[in-house]
Amino acid sequence: MAADYRLVRRNGPRTRIVRAGSATFGEGFTLVGGPCSIESVDQMQQVATHVRAAGGAMLRGGAFKPRTSPYDFQGLGLAGIEIMRDIGLAHGLPTVVEALAVDDVAAVAASCEMIQIGARSMQNVPLLRAAARTGSAILLKRGPAATLDELLCSAEYILMEGNDRVVLCERGIRSFDPHTRNVFDLAGALRLQELTDLPVIVDPSHASGRRSLIEPLTYAAAAAGMDGAMIEVHPDPDRSVSDAPQAIDGATFERIGARVFALR
Ligand code: PEP
Ligand code: MN
Repeated sequence: MAADYRLVRRNGPRTRIVRAGSATFGEGFTLVGGPCSIESVDQMQQVATHVRAAGGAMLRGGAFKPRTSPYDFQGLGLAGIEIMRDIGLAHGLPTVVEALAVDDVAAVAASCEMIQIGARSMQNVPLLRAAARTGSAILLKRGPAATLDELLCSAEYILMEGNDRVVLCERGIRSFDPHTRNVFDLAGALRLQELTDLPVIVDPSHASGRRSLIEPLTYAAAAAGMDGAMIEVHPDPDRSVSDAPQAIDGATFERIGARVFALR
């Protein structure tokens, strides 16, 4: 039987427009940048300056980090959200932060313009419902082993709560070759645009896990007609407390911005 999702199914040529503060998804190419983890005021200030200079529409950063090892940095939590809110306001950038648990949802919704549901949480139905009920815009990432139908069913849960402000994000799927962290499924992302009218962006950072590949993958996505990209940017990439190998510096992000908007 075909997967049962109705509200998110495409039934016309127009992509749904999703607004999150001043950021718009679904028309043109929306660039989102920021560190994997919010680390400090100074770090976020530097990143925000680069995101603005790049023409980025939104600032990202994690406060509740879904780390593989319990011994790794788990995020600044509520203190991180406060930093994010203050820096976003100071730089005129709306913000997106992941809610890792139902308990995080209210705090993220109160301070940020968009709630991220991370790849590991894509099928956490209570979390999807709680995030949806805030009415906030939601960035829903594809699980590393989720089919497109499963992703669309997860989006359907959000729309069933009366919230249609959903942006989908392809962030790489798990495969057998260790040279890239995941496999960047651009074909899958394009197929999503055929199946749904929700905006679809890509995350080349988690998809590839390699700094050197972020720039060309972003251009590929832009040339292919994706609705945007979310990229991990750090003022001192090698010192990033999480995901250092895939972090790019501010100058690279600014170059990506200049080229990607010229391309589109
Ligand atoms: C992230 O965006 O910081 C993140 C943890 O990504 P994912 O959920 O795709 O692994
Ligand atoms: Mn990360």
